[in-house]
Amino acid sequence: MTERLEGLVRERVGGDPVCLFAYDLDRLTDHVRAITATLPRRCRMFYAMKANSADPLLRALAPLVAGFEIASGGELDKARAVGADVPVIFGGPAKTPAEIEQALKQGVQRLHVESLLELHRVSAAATRLGTTAEVLLRVNLSGPFPTATLAMAGKPTQFGIDEQDLPGCVSAARELPGVRLVGFHLHSLSNNLSADAHLELLAHYGRTVSQWEREFGLRCEVINVGGGIGVDYARLDRQFDWPAFARRLPSVLAEFPAHVREIDFECGRYLVAECGSYAVEVLDVKRNHGVQYALVRGGTHQFRLPSSWQHSHPFTVVPVDRWESTAPRPEVSGPVTVVGELCTPKDVLARDVAVERLRAGDVLVFSHAGAYGWEISHHDFLSHPHPEHVFF
Ligand SMILES: *Cc1c(COP(=O)(O)O)cnc(C)c1O
Repeated sequence: MTERLEGLVRERVGGDPVCLFAYDLDRLTDHVRAITATLPRRCRMFYAMKANSADPLLRALAPLVAGFEIASGGELDKARAVGADVPVIFGGPAKTPAEIEQALKQGVQRLHVESLLELHRVSAAATRLGTTAEVLLRVNLSGPFPTATLAMAGKPTQFGIDEQDLPGCVSAARELPGVRLVGFHLHSLSNNLSADAHLELLAHYGRTVSQWEREFGLRCEVINVGGGIGVDYARLDRQFDWPAFARRLPSVLAEFPAHVREIDFECGRYLVAECGSYAVEVLDVKRNHGVQYALVRGGTHQFRLPSSWQHSHPFTVVPVDRWESTAPRPEVSGPVTVVGELCTPKDVLARDVAVERLRAGDVLVFSHAGAYGWEISHHDFLSHPHPEHVFF
């Protein structure tokens, strides 16, 4: 934890129970600059906005990335609030005709099409507006996949076009008057921690696209290889090895057709997770049936990430000596389970984590909370006040 963050937490202690998200924008820009600086020729890094669409984050990221990947009309509004010219690409599994029209009117660069019906909708909207939409077909690959990625890719999902249906979609894309097929979109995994596995997956994408080009007599201009680079929440000292990944990427990209001019990444988690922290005050500490609990202000309604991934989220303790109550101050040491203020046993942020000492009134700071934290949470369940959001 930085001194600045601890200072902020200590400033807040003594008022309403501490409950805040803090984002370090300097750390964000350093991290993202280091990533984009090592991208090889042809590669561009878009930011997948669904990981965190807070306006100050978007403004810090806009000059560093190739643009934003959006998945709704609301996200397009947020992108356009940052700048009328920020490049935007539009994905998402169930776009409405109105969103498609909004995207075309507001200069979205490319649409990632997820079904045959959607392809028809895009063409109809573009024709109505007197334009042609550049599209990538998002494909859910059949496999077989390289062994390293087996656990993650090629499962039935609601996303993309089944590879078996690709011939029909490619013909339709060529015949429909309002669309121009410029390539394919392949995003098949989430939170991948292994650079080796990611490289293998990309090599597989390259071979697959080359084969489709031969099969369909196509020349792709753009391939989108998705996001899915992960954050290791269990071992913060052992993160995705981006430098090794970037070093070996050029040889893997040799598997992609030489005429492809642009290879797009659209990462969310890996770009913004580490710049965010979630600080919550311990309201109570108790033992129940042999388990020690710390009950905090806040919970999964504000930070659903650990519950959605079923992990114990890493935290550090900010010891607070001040204790103004005349009541005895409860404390625990050893394994503690951190829970929120919701009336459901699922409101767990971390389970059986060893602490030296934890008292009511101390503050816990959860790190790597910048992606899919506040954004994916059900904020108004139980109607507690929302946390403060601070941007350094
Ligand atoms: C969620 C999503 C991303 C970003 O995924 P991360 O795991 O956050 O990198 C990229 N592309 C698509 C299509 C997505 O749905």
